[in-house]
Amino acid sequence: MSNTSASPSYDAVVVGAGFAGLYMLHKLRQLGLRARLYEAGDGVGGTWFWNRYPGARCDVESMQYSYSFDEALQQEWQWSERYPAQREILSYINHVADRFALRPDIQLETRVLSADFEEAHARWRVRTDQGDEVTAQFFISAAGCLSAARTPDMAGLDDFAGLRLHTSAWPQEGVDLRGKRVGVIGTGSSGIQTIPQLAQQAGQLVVFQRTPNFSIPAWNRPLPEQEQQAWKQNYQAHRERARNSRSGILYDYAQRATFEVDEAERQAEYERRWRKGGANFNHCFNDIFVNAKSNELAAEFVREKIRAIVTDPEAAERLSPKGYALGTKRLCVDTDYYATFNLPHVQLHDLQAAPIERFTATGLQTASGDYALDAVVFATGFDAVTGAIERMEIRGRQQRLLKDKWAAGPRAYLGLMVADYPNFFMVTGPGSPSILTNVIVSIEQHVEWIAELLAHMRAQQQQLVEAQTEPEDRWVRHVAQVAEGTLFTTTNSWYMGANVPGKPRVFLPYGGGFHIYAALCREEVAAGYPHFTFSPGTPA
Ligand code: NAP
Repeated sequence: MSNTSASPSYDAVVVGAGFAGLYMLHKLRQLGLRARLYEAGDGVGGTWFWNRYPGARCDVESMQYSYSFDEALQQEWQWSERYPAQREILSYINHVADRFALRPDIQLETRVLSADFEEAHARWRVRTDQGDEVTAQFFISAAGCLSAARTPDMAGLDDFAGLRLHTSAWPQEGVDLRGKRVGVIGTGSSGIQTIPQLAQQAGQLVVFQRTPNFSIPAWNRPLPEQEQQAWKQNYQAHRERARNSRSGILYDYAQRATFEVDEAERQAEYERRWRKGGANFNHCFNDIFVNAKSNELAAEFVREKIRAIVTDPEAAERLSPKGYALGTKRLCVDTDYYATFNLPHVQLHDLQAAPIERFTATGLQTASGDYALDAVVFATGFDAVTGAIERMEIRGRQQRLLKDKWAAGPRAYLGLMVADYPNFFMVTGPGSPSILTNVIVSIEQHVEWIAELLAHMRAQQQQLVEAQTEPEDRWVRHVAQVAEGTLFTTTNSWYMGANVPGKPRVFLPYGGGFHIYAALCREEVAAGYPHFTFSPGTPA
């Protein structure tokens, strides 16, 4: 691991100080490696640093949405609610950074611009927007699946003189929207969480909805000490069971198919799930993602709930998702979302009936009328999974830009490594279960797998590792085939890259289940990494 130039030299450069980057850094240090972690924000936390919009909350329950790698850590941290709020998760992740003394190796307010694999000395040269230029043996992206925010191109946007906000770049000091005329564009998970909160402040709230979403109540509540202690007594066993499940989450996974039970039992099961709350609803019957008729019954149950909650029948109809399968756009989890539309100062504007034509200095114009607004909140999502990776100029062998290699869709073996990009790793990359799971479970599995590989290389005195092309091709085909067997590919969602104009229409995560994926990763190790090529020194 020699220094090949005047540039500072590290064993590893890590991008991103979210859950993935922090744990990666911790493991690298445990291996005795010198690592530098670059983070664009001025604090650690990743997603939970940026997404501070009112109402931001995780939809995985607190007792599961945390690291499992350290028993003392999971025993000592106290959660206050069933679902953790952004602020609490941010405190937790700051606690982790301090507890494991990670900060000295983290450089904040620094965005990685490029990483070039220099074949002559088999090292990565990494450049940042702060003028850093360093080399490293390993380059590891922990840049996040939902971190490259999108604001759609809209005519006249720069003319708008009011406040322009994005849910994923909410000002740290907060925003006072009391009494203001506020517009929200977007009704995905972020929009659905923030709309009820904004309605509490705004004088007038207009929700600009293009596609209605399915949302299940969170029934969030305080988490009593007793309940936490009971969980903590068996923490390792709970974690193990989660790791052996398809989502890495302890849901109540149904063993029965929709039509194995009669209508009364079906409705009772939907109702039971609705009352329990959360994304558990997705697992009411085991055929919901593969059988359109089964899915439609569950979807109609949710529409009935919307009709029962929203008092204006016309608004209820507009809020009721139709034409795509429940869960194929990520199921939302809310607090009082549908009921918010019963408030007299909240208005729903249907963009399918009357699209936005342009922004003006004082608001926006739609095909059916104008709105005067003091503030516009974009809850318009992300260039998911590949966006943050592609925004860095990553060049592998022959200086080939990763973005070019991925022009027809991302290619990676197990979502971890890319052929012709030696010593480059992705945590929760495309083709891994990542966004279909409790992402912390996926992160821990990836980070531990990478760390084990680095230890193996050291033991074998290998300097370079890269995925082979043929296994990568096979894996990409397998990921697509698994997706083709589900309803996911029938919907225009960010899972399919469909929310970004020009992005290839490819199902981005591996849908075969976390437990199956993790077993495949273990098999790779047990077999001695047959689908990777190792090399002991610099290539000729
Ligand atoms: P999203 O799910 O992609 O939703 C974006 C919304 O903006 C959609 O309603 C979309 O409409 C709309 N939109 C996009 N471009 C538009 C345009 N040009 N004109 C009008 N509307 C437009 O993004 P998100 O809500 O930020 O959520 C992304 C993901 O982050 C979630 O699915 C989830 O995985 C994660 N997340 C999780 C939580 C949680 O744990 N509770 C909270 C927030 C986010 P169309 O559907 O028509 O494209």
